[in-house]
Amino acid sequence: MLDIIQIPILTDNYIYLLHDPISRETAVVDPAIAQPVLDVLEAKGWQLTYLLNTHHHWDHVGGNLELKQKTGCQIIAAQEDRARIPGIDTGVIDGDIISLGQHQARIIETPGHTSGHVVYYFAKDDALFCGDTLFVMGCGRLFEGTAEQLWTSLQKLKALPPSTRIYCTHEYTQANGQFALSVEPDNKHTQQKMHEVAQLRLNNKSTVPSTIGEEIATNPFFREGSSSLQKNLGLENQSPVSVFTELRKRKDSF
Ligand SMILES: [Zn+2]
Repeated sequence: MLDIIQIPILTDNYIYLLHDPISRETAVVDPAIAQPVLDVLEAKGWQLTYLLNTHHHWDHVGGNLELKQKTGCQIIAAQEDRARIPGIDTGVIDGDIISLGQHQARIIETPGHTSGHVVYYFAKDDALFCGDTLFVMGCGRLFEGTAEQLWTSLQKLKALPPSTRIYCTHEYTQANGQFALSVEPDNKHTQQKMHEVAQLRLNNKSTVPSTIGEEIATNPFFREGSSSLQKNLGLENQSPVSVFTELRKRKDSF
């Protein structure tokens, strides 16, 4: 089993530590800051082997250089973003495989939020580290890419097995769910999920991970083909990309 530890930091960010107990290799995903990672490593007696970045934003790479200096870890990120990733050692492209002991992750390129975004898919562990591409009931904002690019990227994630756990980098679930209900108020799955989310947040608990299956049932950015959603938006019989584009635009000003 791959140990996965979620470390909440800043206002709403999550850092992930992944540990293979057999090889004792350890990876961190998107450390905005180093100290909370160093603290967990020390408490667990783990040594950091790899640092995985999904994209170049500061709240994903801010801890890179300090962690590299203090642990000697190897930094892996999108080849396309080499110039913007502090301390990068290895650039990866779509289809590349990286290993953490016996656990393998496939790199999937998901441009849209930024031009060089990648996600790490551990198929046998049913785990996807998706940065700012896919959130629980939402998706990333378009900073450097087009809506069509992000839609194409999300299609790749939607095609993964429904049991895949999605570990995104922000706790945006409650606000995302309110938007989801505004465009699809009759969706029973979303209504039910929002009850559960409200309870979790009331107790200061994380709503992440979700699963691809739950997202297909609740996330409007996975539901651009739903006829009730299209009807609510006044976009019946439009192409999936144009429905998605309109959804992203509305969410930006929600
Ligand atoms: Zn970002």
